[in-house]
Formats: sequence, structure tokens, C-alpha cells
Amino acid sequence: MRRKLAAGNWKMNGTRADLAELEALCTAHDGADVDLLICPPFTLITAAAQLCDGHDMRIGGQDCHMAASGAHTGDISAEMLKDAGASAVILGHSERRADHAETSDIVRAKARAAHDAGLLAIICVGESLSKREAQNTLDIIGGQLSSSIPDSATGENTVVAYEPCWAIGTGLTPTPDQIGDVHDFIRTRLEKRFGAGIGRSVRLLYGGSVKAGNAAEIFAVSNVDGALVGGASLKADDFSPIIKAL
Ligand code: 13P
Repeated sequence: MRRKLAAGNWKMNGTRADLAELEALCTAHDGADVDLLICPPFTLITAAAQLCDGHDMRIGGQDCHMAASGAHTGDISAEMLKDAGASAVILGHSERRADHAETSDIVRAKARAAHDAGLLAIICVGESLSKREAQNTLDIIGGQLSSSIPDSATGENTVVAYEPCWAIGTGLTPTPDQIGDVHDFIRTRLEKRFGAGIGRSVRLLYGGSVKAGNAAEIFAVSNVDGALVGGASLKADDFSPIIKAL
């Protein structure tokens, strides 16, 4: 049985004052029977991890470098995330793929580095609107999966997030059938590559305009094991109902 996961991606939002939202989430959801994760910007990771110490809330990063250390100005290694108190890292988000030209090969190397550091790698895949309209969604997702997920993946160290680019921050979401088609496809691909044991234990998150109003419908879809939430994870009042729907 896969344990559900509600993950929040704060993206480039949040200063120390916003840790009050995290504190409210921590106290509201202690004892929750789902896993909870917030990925704030790098600058808040240490403070966020200290604040969540003793609570049922984990902290993650939003990216890491593929190398363990070295001359990479401005970058952060997986080991540094771990040292700051993170236990997970989002990798290959479509905004990183677009803004920083991250290819699936780069994402795979980063995921490998995350695994080596003992972090949970949340590997994102998703199609653009033009690929969806051209009915190329499953081709795109299949290619991203095979190139972005390293051989070291297991159910303990890897989560896959399906985030259609056109649903991120737009208020648009795929229909439950469309989400189910992609999640079932991802599950089948994982089972084929890693075998039934690992293939069935990797959790699959949906991300893209998840809100209180659509969460229950999305969570009822087969092979949806939780959500990766952007905008609606910034305020405790918005994220709490999504956690409860899970
Ligand atoms: P929104 O929930 O704001 O659409 O963002 C989704 C996302 O990109 C999470 O990683």
C-alpha cells in the first residue's frame, strides 16, 4: 500500500515572515496519516527544518546540482540540502527545464546525486499544450521517464510527479480520465523497467492547479498517490483542505 503524499512547492516565494504559514500547517496536521512535505526556497530550508523538528512535516529543496561539490557558483549540492535539514528534492520541474535548459539527462544525473545523498527525489514530467493538442502526451511522458529516472530508483527514494505544463498556475486541469490515462501509463512503464515490486511502490503525484475545490476528484483517480501543489501550498488555509482531501 503506497502512503499518500501531499507536497508543496513554494517556488521563488517566501521570506522568513512566511514561516508562520508553515508553523500553522505543522500544528494543524500532526498525526496526519499522509506524508507531508514543503519545499521552500533554499534560503528558508534551515529555518523551516528547525521549525518542523518534532512535527510530521518534512522539508525539501526545489533543485540540486548533479555534482557533490566543486566550482559551481550559485549552485547547491544534494549533500548541502541534506545538511540544511532537507529530506527530499524536486527535480526536473518544467520551470527548471524551461528557465535553465535542463534536459532529462541532466535531471537523471541530479536524481542520482539526490539518491547518493539519501534524499527522496521527486522527478517531474509533463507535456506542453502543443504536445497535448498533437496527441503526443504519452510519447513525451515515456521519453522523459526513461531518461530522467536513474537506475537507482526505488519506492523509498523516488516519487514521480506528473505536471502538465499547461496546467501549472493556469487554473486549467486535465479531466480525471486524462490524469488517469497518464498515471496508469507511468505505472505500467515503471513496472516494465523496474519490475512489479519497485514499479508498484513508487508514488505518483499529480501537479497543476490543484486546489481545495478539485483535490478530492483528482485524488480519486487511479494511481494518483497525492499532489505536488504550487500556489495553493503558500497559505495554510489553502493547503490544509487539500491535505484533508487526501
Ligand atoms: P500550481 O499548483 O500553482 O499550478 O503549480 C503546480 C506546480 O508547478 C507544483 O510544482
